[in-house]
Amino acid sequence: MRVAEIKNNKIEVVERETITLGDRLGAIVKVIGCGLCGSDIVKFREHISNEGTVLGHEIVAEIVEVNSNAGFKIGDTIVASHHIPCFKCAYCRGKSYSMCEHFKETNIEPGGFSEYVYLSDEHLHYVTHLKPKNLSNEEVSFYEPLGCCVRAVKRAELSPLSNVLVVGLGTIGLLMAQTLRAFGMTVHACDIIADRINKAQNLGINAFNSKDLEFAHKHIFAHTNNIGVDCVFMTSGADAAIPVALQTVRLGGKILVFSSTPNNTGYLNNDIYYKELTVLGSYSPRPQDLETSLQLLTNGEVIVKNLSTVYPLDKIQEAFDDTISNKIMKAYIKI
Ligand SMILES: [Zn+2]
Ligand SMILES: [Zn+2]
Repeated sequence: MRVAEIKNNKIEVVERETITLGDRLGAIVKVIGCGLCGSDIVKFREHISNEGTVLGHEIVAEIVEVNSNAGFKIGDTIVASHHIPCFKCAYCRGKSYSMCEHFKETNIEPGGFSEYVYLSDEHLHYVTHLKPKNLSNEEVSFYEPLGCCVRAVKRAELSPLSNVLVVGLGTIGLLMAQTLRAFGMTVHACDIIADRINKAQNLGINAFNSKDLEFAHKHIFAHTNNIGVDCVFMTSGADAAIPVALQTVRLGGKILVFSSTPNNTGYLNNDIYYKELTVLGSYSPRPQDLETSLQLLTNGEVIVKNLSTVYPLDKIQEAFDDTISNKIMKAYIKI
C-alpha cells in the first residue's frame, strides 16, 4: 500500500506492506480521502513527529474488512476520528477528556495519509459514523475539525444569545463562527485578510477587519451595548490577535484559546486579575462532540462546501507547502 511518511523534512510517498486485520477486532478501511489538519502542519514544520510517521486523521473511507459488533459492514463508507478517552481516569472524571492518557495513545494505524488504515474496535464504537448521504466526501471530512469547535463552544459554557467574537477566519474560524451561530450566539468575527472576511460574510457572518485595534474595539463595543463580548474565541495563533482579544472582551468575560502561538506569548497577569477574565484552552473533541459535529454538517447549519482544495496523494508535499504559505485555506488529500 502507498503511504505518505515524513522523511528528511519532506513528506514522501512510499510503498509499505498492506495491513490486514488478522485475528484482531476492528476494521481495515480503504481511505478515500483525508483532510490536512493544522496540527499535521505543526507536527511537520516544528519537527515534532519522528521519521516514518504517517500524518493525517480526518479520514473518509470504505470498510473492506471488519470484525466487530459496532454495526458496520464491508462496503460502508464511514468517517472516523483518531483519539478516544477512557472515561474512567482522573482527567476524564474532571472532564479534561483530551488530557486522558488513553486518549493520547489511541490512534488510527498507520495514519490517514495511507491507502489502508486499521481502526480498532473502540474506534468503531466511539468515533466512527456512516457517511450521511447528503454530504460529499470532502464535506464530511470536516467531522473531526468541526468536532474540535463544538468542544470549544461547550467548554466556554455560554448562555444562548451571548455576544461572541471569533478572531481569525481561517478554516477553523469559519467553522467556529458557524458553530457558535448554530448554538444561538450573536457572532462577530474578524481577520486582517480581506479574502477571508469576504468568505465569512458570504456565510452570513458579521465579519470585520481588525487590523486597526481602535476600530476593532469601537466596532465591538458599538454592537454590545458598550461592554464588549462575553467570550473571544482565538482561532488565530498570531501574536497580533492577543491585543484584539483584550480590546474586545467584556470585564469578567472569557477568552478561549484554540491555537498555539509560535512565540508563546499570552495574557498578562494583571489583565486577568483586574478584569476578572477567564482564559481557558480547548483541545480536541470528545465522542459526543463529534456526534454533534456530524449533525451540524448533515442539517446544513455548518456549511463547508468549497472550503478545501483537493490534491492527489502524489502531490501531498504541495498540499503541505500551499497550506503553510497560506495559498489555500485547507487541503483534502484524495488517496
Ligand atoms: Zn484535525
Ligand atoms: Zn481517561
